[in-house]
Amino acid sequence: MKILLVEDDYALAQGLQSALVREHFVVNWVSKGREALLVIATELPDIMILDIGLPDINGLQVLKQLRLSHPTLPVLLLTARDSIEDKVSGLDLGADDYLTKPFDMQELFARLRMLGRRSMVAVSSKITIGAICMDTASYQVTCDREIIELSRREYMLLQILMENKGRVQTRDNLETKLYSWGAEISSNSIQVHIHNLRKKLTPNFITTIRGIGYIVKG
Ligand code: CA
Repeated sequence: MKILLVEDDYALAQGLQSALVREHFVVNWVSKGREALLVIATELPDIMILDIGLPDINGLQVLKQLRLSHPTLPVLLLTARDSIEDKVSGLDLGADDYLTKPFDMQELFARLRMLGRRSMVAVSSKITIGAICMDTASYQVTCDREIIELSRREYMLLQILMENKGRVQTRDNLETKLYSWGAEISSNSIQVHIHNLRKKLTPNFITTIRGIGYIVKG
């Protein structure tokens, strides 16, 4: 599950990030409201953890703008102030839940699991192209209904290609996207992962655009 963490307190963000990664969440961390909106426009997370007190535009403003384009993205608000007004305006603006700092990590994980379950019901988690079906809720990929075992990086690459069906993904583009989701990967190793993916999928599922990148045509 991909989490976009928007928090300007460096120490707290670091702590949260490592705790979430240990729980097998993929975390993309930004410290400003505007950055968060930029990320949302290019790489949609499954859940957003949003601090209200941010240095540029505050979390409530981020939420307001976000809801115009993404009415259903699950958002968990963090607030340092135990302020009723913040919570009420947050919920009015469409936050799904909130936690008041300081909070217990176990409590955070429980809320995230709940939000994750809710969003899986709301949004179809299956992408099917030809014989290949990817279930982004269970991280399962099948080829002609047979389950295929993929490494985490192979899975992430395939998800990017399938979510962008019909659009060429340059190597740089793939590298940046993987990096933003916490998987550092070089351009050379992308070639290797694609090579391995091809062996596991139907032969022509991923097309190479020579000197540029890759595409899933569908
Ligand atoms: Ca803050």
